[in-house]
Amino acid sequence: PGILHVVATPIGNLGDLSARALETLKTVSAICAEDTRHTRQLLSHFGLDRPLLALHQHNEDAQAAQLVARLRAGESLALVSDAGTPLVSDPGFRLVRAARAAGIRVSPVPGACAAIAALSVAGVPSDRFVFEGFLPAKASARRERLSRLVGEPRTLIFYESAHRIEESLEDLATAFGNERVAVVGRELTKLFETVLDGSLGELKARVAADPNQRKGEFVVIVEGAGDDADASIAEGRRLYAKLSEHLK
Ligand code: SAM
Repeated sequence: PGILHVVATPIGNLGDLSARALETLKTVSAICAEDTRHTRQLLSHFGLDRPLLALHQHNEDAQAAQLVARLRAGESLALVSDAGTPLVSDPGFRLVRAARAAGIRVSPVPGACAAIAALSVAGVPSDRFVFEGFLPAKASARRERLSRLVGEPRTLIFYESAHRIEESLEDLATAFGNERVAVVGRELTKLFETVLDGSLGELKARVAADPNQRKGEFVVIVEGAGDDADASIAEGRRLYAKLSEHLK
């Protein structure tokens, strides 16, 4: 059988496409892409011309079976998304699961990932972190999600788009308090890259005051609740466990 190569592409700066990614994209028999027009541009920039297959949210289940059949028949394929690492807030997990279930080798060609790029320059504790991806679009669902994360002791990583960054920072400040330390990474690896740090209250105000700070793509990193919260949650759990024993 062939190999399914899961290939990371740049998150803005084309110089971040690795030599191995190039080599892989050159040699596979087809490339599964989230948006074929977008990937066509990337390929032509590097002088590559491989057949592209659309693989997105709406056709992934249906496509997976056919792609697995091609892999089984000996073709090697690459999976890419529009930017960064496939499967990270991007399609691909169903295909990867189907390929693995069929005994196909799935091999990573690692590279850019916005969450990790932001974490690497944030200067917040990074030994343990949780990736939360995009917050729900609806305000009520977003607040509900945040209310569950208030006591989280690990560093939190969120993705956000230009049209919701202001609202999200506001909800983050309300949920976690204005004093909680955070970092906003914007347009990483691109011309207008900025990394702002401060309290959530400060960041909310800076982004609200400057329309330029609301343009582009964002990663928001929020420090965890710290060991005090960790300890008090653990204490709560311990007491609850003890109590439920008595209530049996
Ligand atoms: N698979 C991608 C990855 O590995 O990072 C993420 C895809 S997700 C659909 C797109 C989101 O990633 C954006 O809305 C933004 O939150 C984040 N993102 C992507 N590129 C970025 C960049 N250059 N700077 C900051 N955030 C970025």
